[in-house]
Amino acid sequence: MKITRAKSFMLQVPIGREIADGMQATKILEFVGINVSTDDGITGTGYTITVGAGGNVIKEVLDSLFVDELAGKDPFNVKEIWYQLYYGKSHWIGRAGATTMAQSAVDIALWDIIAKSSERPLWQVLGGCRTMDIPIYNTNAGWLNRTQDELKDEMQALLAEGYTALKMKVGKPDPREDYRRVKAVRKAIGDDAILMVDANQSWDLMTASTWGRKLEEFDLTWLEEPLHPDDIKAHRLLKQATSIPIALGEHIYTTQSFRDYIDNTAVDIIQVDVCRIGGITPWMEVAAMANVHNIRVCPHAGDLMQVHQHLVKAIPNSWYLEVIPSLVKGLFERPVQLKRGICISPLEPGASTDFAEKAFRKYRVA
Ligand code: MG
Repeated sequence: MKITRAKSFMLQVPIGREIADGMQATKILEFVGINVSTDDGITGTGYTITVGAGGNVIKEVLDSLFVDELAGKDPFNVKEIWYQLYYGKSHWIGRAGATTMAQSAVDIALWDIIAKSSERPLWQVLGGCRTMDIPIYNTNAGWLNRTQDELKDEMQALLAEGYTALKMKVGKPDPREDYRRVKAVRKAIGDDAILMVDANQSWDLMTASTWGRKLEEFDLTWLEEPLHPDDIKAHRLLKQATSIPIALGEHIYTTQSFRDYIDNTAVDIIQVDVCRIGGITPWMEVAAMANVHNIRVCPHAGDLMQVHQHLVKAIPNSWYLEVIPSLVKGLFERPVQLKRGICISPLEPGASTDFAEKAFRKYRVA
């Protein structure tokens, strides 16, 4: 099999109500990706997502640095291609951020081809490990720009829909307000619901240590991204200060950085994101490394679940899958199927990355 053509694209998708966390706010998601065609008629699709800015930079990386490198190659040699791209034209100017996100799109497209060609869902091609449906948690009721009453109402509505695990944002200018909001939510959803909080890097070590300790009384399943993602030392110290497990990984762009977090006992739950780490190839390496160290993987929904729904079924150490279903309505040909707290196993061949034709035409800007 040979690659005959690769073509990049960018979609801008409005998401209705503005969503905000401790770092940014948006009303738009950008999907930047690549369609890779082969001589036997299969087309693979891969993409990455931004919160409304920078998609043009990622698309430029695809067009200037990657597209011409793919022609003539066999997509089944996906790992060799990964290293060729990583140590190729992008290496001097990138290695993290836009270049890695562009590489994620390419790698996902190649694995999509491999799975379609094998006539199997991606999770089985990667070595199916969990035939069961996977538990999910919903992030969509916990945005930082919701009032305390909206938070409570929307959390309760998700419980009524059958969700059993929910995440909310913290990172208000005054942490005392975060404390009050978490307290109100815990009261509203009851003791049985699983609750996580996410600071999106908005705290420093003193804030995280002080307020992490105070939040312990609300039985939180994890505290996510409390600090700057490159600050391994501060996370190690924070873990000594609070009993709440520390989750992170959505802004980590290298396998080596995950290794250093694990080596320094600075993380409890790994949230490696397939759209940022460089694709499925390094994602599986990180998951295997975590497994060897007895650490669970709960991927960040930076793909909006289409790819991660496969990956969590291909490893033994996955736990909860993050979902934000309302953000992707009508966008994909075979959207992720959720039902009362679980993700139903995808059965169609491929990586579930094909966009619905109508939506693709409607939202395409480049
Ligand atoms: Mg997060």
